[in-house]
Amino acid sequence: MPELPEVETVARALRPHLTGRRITRVEVFSPKMREPLTPLMEADLPGRTVLAVRRRGRYLLLDLDDGRTLLAHLGMSGVIRLEGAEVPRRKHEHVFLFFEEDLIFRFECPRRFSVLKICSPKCPGEDPPELATLGVEPLSEAFDAEYFFRRSRGRTGPLKVFLMNNEIVTGVGNIYATEALFAAGLRPTRQAGSLSRKECGMLVTAVRQVLRNAIAAGGTTIHDYRHVDGSEGKFEQELRVYGRAGQPCEVCGTPIRTVRLGGRSSAFCPHCQK
Ligand SMILES: [Zn+2]
Repeated sequence: MPELPEVETVARALRPHLTGRRITRVEVFSPKMREPLTPLMEADLPGRTVLAVRRRGRYLLLDLDDGRTLLAHLGMSGVIRLEGAEVPRRKHEHVFLFFEEDLIFRFECPRRFSVLKICSPKCPGEDPPELATLGVEPLSEAFDAEYFFRRSRGRTGPLKVFLMNNEIVTGVGNIYATEALFAAGLRPTRQAGSLSRKECGMLVTAVRQVLRNAIAAGGTTIHDYRHVDGSEGKFEQELRVYGRAGQPCEVCGTPIRTVRLGGRSSAFCPHCQK
């Protein structure tokens, strides 16, 4: 599933190509999605210019010159590609946004869980109302030890589920929560509210480091995620616990174990993580 680093990678790849470019045509090949694509066809997009390409949590946002924002969420397995018309349409590419100079923003979604919709923020460039409940960005200054300490007080649920709560901090999904907890030496099953200030600081640092490393590596290619140019992310080579159940911990040699939390499998080292 594309997480924050993957969406950030997509945003960075699209930015130089789409900023300042005008949409010339929209083609929806198959409007049946989690949210139907019909409104997109009626949104009067041709003629609009993209002013900015940005990311918020796991959402990709294209701000348009009429104050509206095109919001994309890749769901479980969505892929965005930027290619010319010479490449034939793939089976699950449901939307083409044509840009000037024969550039096509292609939205592929085999399982139809992705979202592509037009939103109207109160002020141009702000987050659309659809994203009002999102918590702080993990790479922003607002996400610090004090914030995590304060928000986690009284929380009796597992730390990993708390860390993956988008209303607390947005965009930390299963892979990166698992890796950050290992890096911080904290067990996923710990009660979120039991962390000391110091432990909150270690976890915040670990989350930021893991995300930065993943962005630098171009994300993680697990399941269906690909870059806009079709290349693959390299971060899976750096995974230390995720997907390594039964293998020895690279620090202490203890076999990595898994526990099921919030419906997701969670890998951890029973020796290194307290
Ligand atoms: Zn270990």
